[in-house]
Amino acid sequence: MLKIITHPNPNLRKKSLPVENQQILTSEFQKLLNQMSYLMFKYDGAGLAAPQIDKQYRVVVVNIKGQSQAFINPKITKKSLLKKTLEEGCLSIPGVFGWVKRPKKVTIKYQDKNAIWQKEKCDEYLSRVIQHEIDHLDGVLFIDKIIKK
Ligand SMILES: [Zn+2]
Repeated sequence: MLKIITHPNPNLRKKSLPVENQQILTSEFQKLLNQMSYLMFKYDGAGLAAPQIDKQYRVVVVNIKGQSQAFINPKITKKSLLKKTLEEGCLSIPGVFGWVKRPKKVTIKYQDKNAIWQKEKCDEYLSRVIQHEIDHLDGVLFIDKIIKK
């Protein structure tokens, strides 16, 4: 069973690689998505990025009202100028919380679990979580951005 790796494991600082269309559709990859969802719910996370389970893929799952949604090869295509400061935590940095300023809204494109490209305007909860998770794919942790503890 996969487990969540924690800071300062250097693998959390690696830049993850895009997932190819054909790979997304394999049963092995679909199993990985299921395992990520399982771990996210088990530890009551808002989201989980593949690097947190030591897989350098550009994949995140987000807990949306108790349902897991997969975002594969997600990319922010637009950010609002308006920013918002909220308190964040991370399953890979247990016990640490801090205030982080990020764009209030973002527009993203991503592939769903069927490898279909989607576009979504994110606000509020999803905007915050997806930005935190996409940072993981670039080796960036929220502790790098804390403005106050
Ligand atoms: Zn995190």
